[in-house]
Amino acid sequence: MPARGSLPTGGGAPRPGRRRRGAGLRRRLALAYLPLVLVATAALGAYLLVAARALYLDGAAGQLTGEARLVADAAAPAWGDPASLTALAGRLGRAGGIRVTLLAADGAVLGDSAAAPAAPAHEAASPEVGSALAGGVGQSVRPGIGGGDTLYVAVPVAVDGRTVGVARVAQPLDAIDARLDALGRAAVVAVAASGVLAAGLALLLGRDIAAPLEDLAGLAGALAAGHLGLRSHLDTDDEIGRLGRAFDQMAAELQRTIALGEDERRKLAAVLDTLDDGVLLLDAAGTVVRANAAAARLLGRGARDDLAGRPFAEVAGGELAALVAEAARTRRARALFVERDGARQVRAAVTPVRGVAERLVVLALHDLTELRRLETARRDFVANISHELRTPLASVKALVETLEGGAIEDDAVARQFLGQMGEEVDHLAGLVRELLELARIEAGQVALRRAAVAPADLILPTVARLRAQAERAGLTLATAGLAGLPPVLADPERIGQVLLNLLHNALKFTPPGGAVTVAAERRDAMLAVAVRDTGRGIDPRDLPRIFERFYKADRARSGGGTGLGLAIARHTVEAHGGALSAANNADGPGATFTFTLPLAPEDDAGASPDPSAALTSR
Ligand code: ADP
Repeated sequence: MPARGSLPTGGGAPRPGRRRRGAGLRRRLALAYLPLVLVATAALGAYLLVAARALYLDGAAGQLTGEARLVADAAAPAWGDPASLTALAGRLGRAGGIRVTLLAADGAVLGDSAAAPAAPAHEAASPEVGSALAGGVGQSVRPGIGGGDTLYVAVPVAVDGRTVGVARVAQPLDAIDARLDALGRAAVVAVAASGVLAAGLALLLGRDIAAPLEDLAGLAGALAAGHLGLRSHLDTDDEIGRLGRAFDQMAAELQRTIALGEDERRKLAAVLDTLDDGVLLLDAAGTVVRANAAAARLLGRGARDDLAGRPFAEVAGGELAALVAEAARTRRARALFVERDGARQVRAAVTPVRGVAERLVVLALHDLTELRRLETARRDFVANISHELRTPLASVKALVETLEGGAIEDDAVARQFLGQMGEEVDHLAGLVRELLELARIEAGQVALRRAAVAPADLILPTVARLRAQAERAGLTLATAGLAGLPPVLADPERIGQVLLNLLHNALKFTPPGGAVTVAAERRDAMLAVAVRDTGRGIDPRDLPRIFERFYKADRARSGGGTGLGLAIARHTVEAHGGALSAANNADGPGATFTFTLPLAPEDDAGASPDPSAALTSR
């Protein structure tokens, strides 16, 4: 289970990107709210102003109607006396702070508190006067004698139940307008204040909505950056909570899918890496997408990681790059034999990959070096065996022909020839025996009779067998360090044969006066036996090949050997679980052949022979 992380919220260090996004969302929310609130408050303010004015006018009209009635009541007894009516109008007007006008039934002005020259003398045409004369209460708003809007209210004056005139009062609306202005200013302030309040609230509300969204935006960014263990942990019941849960689910799914993909990728890489063939996947631009370990090895690169992401032309170049480029261009399979590092023979095959979105090609590198080497070895083997058989056979045939030609009559010559023929046949028989032996060892048909043997018991008898031959050749033959060594697990007869072979060679290739030494030492769980001579040594060019069948470094001087001895020796040692190697002496002339054998397990000393183990070839 991957660790469940959580998103850093609020308290954590702010991420610049996140802040910017959040501020944007909040500003947008505030900007959407603000005009709404401003328009609504302004409309409300305007409506209230209009309503307030109507209300004021209503109130004023009601009051003026009352006052007009009082004036009418006061004027009725004096009706018909113009002088007292004029005085009454003046007195009442001054007392009420209003204009009072008394009019006759025909509209002629009988008395007016406003003694202005502009005041008309006849007012039958004024709407409020008309209404009052008709018996009702007249009311109108129009410019007064001062010029400003004025409210007029008129009521009939009745004497003995008969309308004789009109009492009218008027008041300029300046005061109302001033009050309404103040109200308007207050409304503007209220609109502005509610705008600010609304903006603040919108910002706050925006933050509430924006904060979880900011977190989700941050989470999405973190997921995209590969932090798949992060979760939103939003568990509210609203849409944002649902969004958060969907996000968490998506992240978990993504994490699972990616882990699966990664797993598949690792499996594929593991499979590819077990292949001996090099496999490279290249994209249309010729860049290495993937390479296995064998590809890196065959292209002479250390690790396959060196290859991924690099242009193939830079990695391989030459023919291979051209091959890949051509296959990528034509989308057709192409193949080619190339030599790498001058020695490796590689078959390169490029195949376009079908059924995938990308234009990919696969380059497979098949190392044919070993196959070619085996082919060459087999050809050499046939050539060598024919050569080895031809010489003695030709010599036997020549001797037979000479005998047939009359030499048989000469007893002494005939005997000599028969002796020579016997030698050639012996050589042939030896060759065939060794070949059979090698074939049987290689086929795993020879049983090893392994037992725990003390190294001295293994080495000393063989050395003793060759002492006389060494003396005849004028060589000293000695052993060193054999005492006190632990026993080895070996077939004494076969290892004796190996040692005999090595000693034969050492004596054969060392000129008189030289020395041959057999020394043994323990190396961890193995015993190493070294046969050292002071002879002519081995040409470094021949060193890697002397263990091949029939290989003779110097045919003229190999002294009639078959070239099979070292091949048999190596196979025998390897069947014991050891190794045989050769090197020239660093501190003087001659060569040293060293073979190793496993030490016998502690409790195995003196164990019975083990006939089941077989010599096996690799
Ligand atoms: P052969 O029967 O010819 O000796 P081997 O397989 O035993 O065949 O040896 C192969 C070749 O290795 C020899 O022909 C010789 O050239 C070389 N060689 C083996 N032992 C020695 C040695 N002690 N010093 C120099 N060359 C050696």
